[in-house]
Amino acid sequence: MTYAMEGRASREPALFSPKPRAKPRGQSKGPGRADARRSTSGLKRNVFFRIYLLAMFLSTRFLTTMDIRNVVVLGSGCAGHTAALYSARANLKPLVIEGHEPGGQLSMTTLVENFPGFPEGIQGPELIENMRKQAARFGAEYRMGHVVKADLSKHPFELSFGKEIIQTRTLIVASGASARWLGLPNEHALIGHGVSSCATCDGFFFSGKEIAVIGGGDSAMEEAIFLTRFATKVTLIHRREQFRASKIMLDRARANPKIEFLTDTVVDDVLDVSKKEVTALRLRNLKSGESWDFPASAMFLGIGHIPNAKIFEGQLETDADGYLITQKNVFTRVPGVFACGDVQDRRYRQAITAAGSGCMAALEVEKFLEEEGH
Ligand code: NAP
Repeated sequence: MTYAMEGRASREPALFSPKPRAKPRGQSKGPGRADARRSTSGLKRNVFFRIYLLAMFLSTRFLTTMDIRNVVVLGSGCAGHTAALYSARANLKPLVIEGHEPGGQLSMTTLVENFPGFPEGIQGPELIENMRKQAARFGAEYRMGHVVKADLSKHPFELSFGKEIIQTRTLIVASGASARWLGLPNEHALIGHGVSSCATCDGFFFSGKEIAVIGGGDSAMEEAIFLTRFATKVTLIHRREQFRASKIMLDRARANPKIEFLTDTVVDDVLDVSKKEVTALRLRNLKSGESWDFPASAMFLGIGHIPNAKIFEGQLETDADGYLITQKNVFTRVPGVFACGDVQDRRYRQAITAAGSGCMAALEVEKFLEEEGH
């Protein structure tokens, strides 16, 4: 790895601080010889110093050139692993920085039944682990942690990873979007046991049950409508009386006989951790202050996603909600920087579409490097 130059600079003075001169033993043999000795040793030190500087300069150049990556992939969800797999098979030796949520949203779900190739379905964490192994088999290198700063104005691009500066000729941003959670005391413990942020992924498990959807935007409407395929009743719980959802979506939800609305209502907690399943939601009406336990087998959150693209603010184009804007699927406005998966897709958000765009990004990286002569 290339280290920040301050590190080297701070080490130099210590190595070359002048040595305390030894006291001359006995009588001095005269000023002429002492001066000559002093000037010889000064000359030697000077030569050594120059050699040292030259060595440092060459090693810095050598290490820097050696350490410039062909491609760095940010994120280890479906998009990131697929980008890593394709670029590893193209012998580009990708470095994957795993990010805040290694494995992305699949690592938080249970059975995945809509990823082609698994007739019986596959557990989300297993699917993602398989993808990781597959990419690693072809030489993808994985590192835990996340990039705190990216400088895309330089080429090679510079990424701050802890105290290291990673240089790379191309960058694939596959950092995903994190589902927004309510932050309830027991919410996290019940993810995968009735608490979910993905109706397409988990709705099927609640066939014949009564479930709740939280939110008042298009996502919540869409989830509620989708879930009526399985549930006997869907209750849409929203904290206000007005909805953020588009009229058409709201009308569709209102027209659905299986959907009921509870407005001005917030969720204070989800029960029951001791049973390892959702049995009820503790609700509170914001106007009356009344609190009660509302029976439900699942709680689906449709309160939005947060794209993980903050470090690119001002460098890459984003929409009003912070999603990266891409052209021709994966091109950002910075040549050599490609984006794929949920960080740039607010529409489909599926494992298979994320994997598809990861593949596209890797193929574009290959073309870009080829055109640059690497
Ligand atoms: P959104 O429009 O930002 O709506 C989020 C909803 O969640 C809001 O009603 C908000 O309540 C509520 N909310 C947020 N934080 C909350 C909290 N802590 N507790 C309780 N409620 C909370 O997000 P979205 O629905 O995901 O939509 C995002 C964008 O994607 C929109 O532009 C939407 O049109 C688009 N989209 C389109 C479709 C479609 O056309 N089929 C489908 C999905 C999404 P408040 O209203 O009180 O703030």
